[in-house]
Amino acid sequence: MRTPIIAGNWKMNKNPQETQEFLEAIKGKLPESGVEAIIGAPAIDLNALTWFSKDEPLKTAAENCYFEDAGAFTGETSPKALSDMGLDYVIIGHSERRQYFGETDEDINKKAHAILKNNMLPIICCGETLEQREAGKAEEWVTGQIENAVKGISADDLAKSVIAYEPIWAIGTGKTATADQAQEMVHVIREKIASLYDADTADKVRILYGGSVKPANVKELMSKEDIDGGLVGGASMDPESFLALVNFQK
Ligand code: PEP
Repeated sequence: MRTPIIAGNWKMNKNPQETQEFLEAIKGKLPESGVEAIIGAPAIDLNALTWFSKDEPLKTAAENCYFEDAGAFTGETSPKALSDMGLDYVIIGHSERRQYFGETDEDINKKAHAILKNNMLPIICCGETLEQREAGKAEEWVTGQIENAVKGISADDLAKSVIAYEPIWAIGTGKTATADQAQEMVHVIREKIASLYDADTADKVRILYGGSVKPANVKELMSKEDIDGGLVGGASMDPESFLALVNFQK
């Protein structure tokens, strides 16, 4: 049985004061069980999140990290420091990081190893462009991204990790993949994991859909067999909207 996840991704939004205000608004209102609520936030906001999560049923995610623990890497964030702070997850391979910061499959694989070594879990993003989908290349592209991202990761570690399928054409565009389109690709990813590992690992790994998920469409997406949750940008920024998303079962 895979516990559903609703993971916010604030991207480069909210300062520590705004983070505090958001946390005050959701305090005492998160479901105690049945769903894992996660907020992914900019590095400067993570201290507030990890303190809050000590008393509330909220898991925390960084939106990126480097693959070395320490050293002369000006401007980067250490996975060891994130782990020491109490972070649970790190989002890696988001299409914005691939597109604007040149992050490669190899970087993402190194980051996944560094995150697991530091006792956190990666949320590994993948997804195709509209051109790739229209050319019939989406499955090949996405399964290739996954194969490269998980190289050298043990079955046990992968089973605990999270994958997020985010078609690039649906991110921040208001254009959601239909629940059937999302289910189809998430199923393909699960089959790819089964072929790279085994049926048990594929059955355990949680695979999210991301791309304009909001309170109005979350229920339908979550009703699909292989979809274990959502990675949510825009609709995770407002406390009421985030609470509506995490309470999708009600
Ligand atoms: C995202 O940030 O990963 C995302 C899916 O954004 P949005 O929900 O705004 O499309």
